Amino acid sequence: MSLLEVERLTAGYAAVPVVRDVGLSVERGELVALLGANGAGKTTTLLAISGLVSTYSGEIRLAGASISGLAPARRARAGIQHVPEDRSLFPSLTVDETIRLAGGTRRSPEWVLEYFPALRELGGRRVAALSGGEQQMLALARALCRDPSLLIVDEMSLGLAPLVVNAFFPVLRRIAAERECGVLIVEQHVHVALRWVDRVYVMAGGTMAASGTADEMRPKVDELTSAYLGEQTAPSPVPAPAGTHAVDSGS
Ligand code: ATP
Repeated sequence: MSLLEVERLTAGYAAVPVVRDVGLSVERGELVALLGANGAGKTTTLLAISGLVSTYSGEIRLAGASISGLAPARRARAGIQHVPEDRSLFPSLTVDETIRLAGGTRRSPEWVLEYFPALRELGGRRVAALSGGEQQMLALARALCRDPSLLIVDEMSLGLAPLVVNAFFPVLRRIAAERECGVLIVEQHVHVALRWVDRVYVMAGGTMAASGTADEMRPKVDELTSAYLGEQTAPSPVPAPAGTHAVDSGS
């Protein structure tokens, strides 16, 4: 039994399906990327898993239990945490306040900050004054405070420099392995995704067009790019940082 199982999911807006018959799965400890050109349906698929858009048919199971009919808050209680594309942080709160609010009174966020030690230095700074990379760290840390079994991250790399993006991926891998949670991300750069993730799904026109392990997909990257992903240039080859244990401050 996979951690997340999505079967024949059809979902959309105002009774108009925009994703059709989508299937995917995520295992515990696994990092999975959803790829696709603009408008392919990636965000809608993530939102449907979290219960934030209407689902017209299909089945979504978390740890074997159906969550298809559950409201977003109940899916969150069941273990799903969703970091949206805009990160949805409150600009006037400080880093400390954001973490404290997310953790509640019972949970210590100390283990969360071990993944993002740069946030320790930024405790009193307001969200509005953080760089894009720092905001993404905080959004991920806030989601982690709820100790999710499934962490969903939409467009994690959006607006971030390649160096910063390359620092986030090892942390996501560590989180998946150490917290035994599944991590499902939307990534705009296929080359980056294939360097770091375990498996990828490729969406096109609201349906699932291809899927496979990163090892299987790497030799097909040019084919995938021209068939489904549009023009993409490989980001400059920034090496993985040595001692890939945490994300440092940066933008
Ligand atoms: P991008 O990479 O550009 O974010 P995506 O693959 O995440 O694209 P979605 O955002 O899921 O794609 O959009 C899929 C389709 O659904 C698009 O045609 C889009 O115009 C449409 N869509 C998205 N949000 C809404 C909405 N709130 N109401 C109506 N249609 C929408």
